[in-house]
Amino acid sequence: MKKVIVTGGMGFIGSHTAVELANKGYDPIIIDNLSNSSLSVLDGINKITNKNVTFEKFDLTDSIATEHCFQKHKDAIGVIHFAAYKAVGESVKLPNKYYKNNILSLINVLDSMYSNNIPNLIFSSSCTVYGQPDVLPVTESTPIKKANSPYGFTKQIGEQIINDFVNVNNEISAISLRYFNPIGAHDSCLIGELPNGIPNNLLPYITQTVYGIREKLHVFGGDYNTHDGTAIRDYIHVVDLAKAHVKSIERLEKKKNEANHEFFNLGTGIGYSVLDVINAFEKSTGRKVNYEIVAKRSGDVEAVYANTEIANKHLGWKAKLNIEDMTKSAWDWEEKLNSTKS
Ligand code: UDP
Repeated sequence: MKKVIVTGGMGFIGSHTAVELANKGYDPIIIDNLSNSSLSVLDGINKITNKNVTFEKFDLTDSIATEHCFQKHKDAIGVIHFAAYKAVGESVKLPNKYYKNNILSLINVLDSMYSNNIPNLIFSSSCTVYGQPDVLPVTESTPIKKANSPYGFTKQIGEQIINDFVNVNNEISAISLRYFNPIGAHDSCLIGELPNGIPNNLLPYITQTVYGIREKLHVFGGDYNTHDGTAIRDYIHVVDLAKAHVKSIERLEKKKNEANHEFFNLGTGIGYSVLDVINAFEKSTGRKVNYEIVAKRSGDVEAVYANTEIANKHLGWKAKLNIEDMTKSAWDWEEKLNSTKS
């Protein structure tokens, strides 16, 4: 079985990707320091896949540990690099925490790929690299604007570091995947999103509110220039997103890439407002969401959604699950999570 190193493989997107890799006959090697995840995720992955997935626990900012692990798995065909801090608001308060972790771990990954001749890299990037674009939908050639947060800047710098690296190390190829808004959970309810403390993101906030853990959802901003005044995003089911990673590693492995660093937008191409998401949640689950429209959240952009034509064409991939599949699976996961806690 072909090994694929999955850094951050115990996280939300990483765990779903490990499952999709295993389903396609790959051998995922998960690296994670468990800073924002838990060992129980591995049980979920193993149950879904009926395998014993390899897990290496260490911190990728440790260059010696990284080198040691990559040497051990030097027969891997590639690396999917998810491991990173991701809370936008925290990154504004603690910028160096984000720069140190996200940048140093990427550099260590690249160095150890090079020294162990591991040829293919998939990098977790984000639509935050675009800021508030002037023209929608966003294509991969939409100009990159000044980052809104240190988190967003680590994704911009990360892409640039990879560019510079592959330009001089032609034996390594990379794809940066620019995610829009991943939500939902695996339909087995064995893995899903595990927010740490009060959720920052919309869907976990909705599901926790409906479950009774939070009193009400605050909808940030009701006077945006959109069809109902609330902000628009391109939500994508995490399982669709995970499948795009498998397609990406296959593209590099088969040397079908047209440049040594390619970029793809991963979304559905459809923009939904916050109120649209609430409606979809209510329709798909039969539950009411208690919400109030409040002031805008600073740093939020008004509207962003993807043009996904390039990803559809080059990866042979298209998001299949709709907004109600997403909201329903997020709710099923929330219910399952709380039932196993009590
Ligand atoms: N949002 C909201 N209330 C919340 C969390 C998010 O109204 O408690 C809105 C947010 O302003 C944005 C959308 O939901 O318009 C998606 O936010 P999220 O934090 O999930 O992702 P982002 O697009 O900011 O990365």
